Amino acid sequence: MNSIAKTSKQFSDAVLAWFDEHGRHDLPWQHNKTPYRVWVSEIMLQQTQVTTVIPYYQRFMQRFPDVKSLAAAEQDEVLHLWTGLGYYARARNLHKCAQTVVEKYAGVFPSTVAELESLSGIGRSTAGAIASISMGQYAAILDGNVKRVLTRFHAVEGWPGNKKVADQLWDIAERYTPQQRTADYTQAMMDLGATLCTRSKPGCEICPLHAQCEAYAQNRVKEFPNSKPKKDKPVKTTQMVLVRHDDEILLQQQPSTGIWGGLWIFPQLSINDDALSLPFLQGCDIKAVYELEGFRHTFSHYHLDIKPIRIDIERKPNTINESDQLWYSLQQGANVGLAAPVKKLLETQL
Ligand code: SF4
Repeated sequence: MNSIAKTSKQFSDAVLAWFDEHGRHDLPWQHNKTPYRVWVSEIMLQQTQVTTVIPYYQRFMQRFPDVKSLAAAEQDEVLHLWTGLGYYARARNLHKCAQTVVEKYAGVFPSTVAELESLSGIGRSTAGAIASISMGQYAAILDGNVKRVLTRFHAVEGWPGNKKVADQLWDIAERYTPQQRTADYTQAMMDLGATLCTRSKPGCEICPLHAQCEAYAQNRVKEFPNSKPKKDKPVKTTQMVLVRHDDEILLQQQPSTGIWGGLWIFPQLSINDDALSLPFLQGCDIKAVYELEGFRHTFSHYHLDIKPIRIDIERKPNTINESDQLWYSLQQGANVGLAAPVKKLLETQL
C-alpha cells in the first residue's frame, strides 16, 4: 500500500471538495435526514441502484412516514410495497427492526454503532451510515461503492468478501473518515463510487484522487475489486401451478423464513409430479390444462428453472384455507408481496 502520506486529511479534503461541487445533494433521503429516513434508504440501496430506489422510497415514506407506522403495519403490506425491489429478507428485517425500535427503544433509534448493529438487517456499514449521516457521528462505512474506491486507490488484492481483505479495507476506511463533516464525507464516498469510480466506466481523468490512485497508476483499474473466486451456481427446478377460476388465480403464502419468506406464490410441485394430484384439486371440474413457457430465475446463489402449468377450473374448491391461501384477482390485484417470477407470470395472464 502506498503511504497514507496521501494523508488521511488530504484524502478526505479532496473527496469533500469534489462532493461540494459534484456530489448529489437532492436525493429524497437527503432532506430531513432522520435516522428512520436514512435507515430505510440505506436498506433499499443495498444491491439496488438509486434510480430504481427513488419511487419505492417515496411510496414507502408516504405510507410509513415514521418508525411507528412501519412497526404497526402488516408484514403483507410491507412486502407489497417492496414488490419488485428483490432481496425480500431486507423488507422482513426492516419490519422486524421497526418493531424492535418501537418496543425496546420507545420509537427512537439508538445512537451508538454497536446498538444499531444489533438490530435486524443492520450491518456494520449501514450502522455507520445511519450514525454519521443522520446523527453526525464519527463512523466509517464500507458499502460496495466505498470498497470499489478503496480497493482501487490502494490496489488492494483479494476478494473483499474475504475476512482478511475486509479487515484491511475497514482499517483504511476508518483512517480516511474525518472527524469533521463526517456526514458529508460518507455521502461523498458513496457518490464518488456510484457516479465516478464506477464498475465499468470509471472517470479517472476527472477524479479528485487520480494523482495518487495506485490502480490508475498501474493501469489496472478494472481489476479491482477482485472478483469472488468462481463456483458454478447450482440449478434447481420447480413446477408452479396456476390454478385459475375466471379471472382469479390461487396463491399461497410462504412460511416467514427462507427464500420468498412471507411472499405469496403459486402452489409448487417437484418438476415431475402430476399437477392434477394437488389435494385441493381433487373433486374439482377441470376445464383445461396448459403448459406455459418455462423460464429461469436466478438468485444470488442458485438458478431456479421454473416450469409453469395452468389449470382452469369450473368451480372453486371449498377446501381453501383463507389464512394462507387467496384468490388473486387479475383485474384488481391484492395488497400482498409477490415473488418476482410470480409477478411475471401473473402479468402474462392478463
Ligand atoms: S482514479 Fe479512477 S480508479 Fe482511482 S479512485 Fe479515481 S475513479 Fe477510481
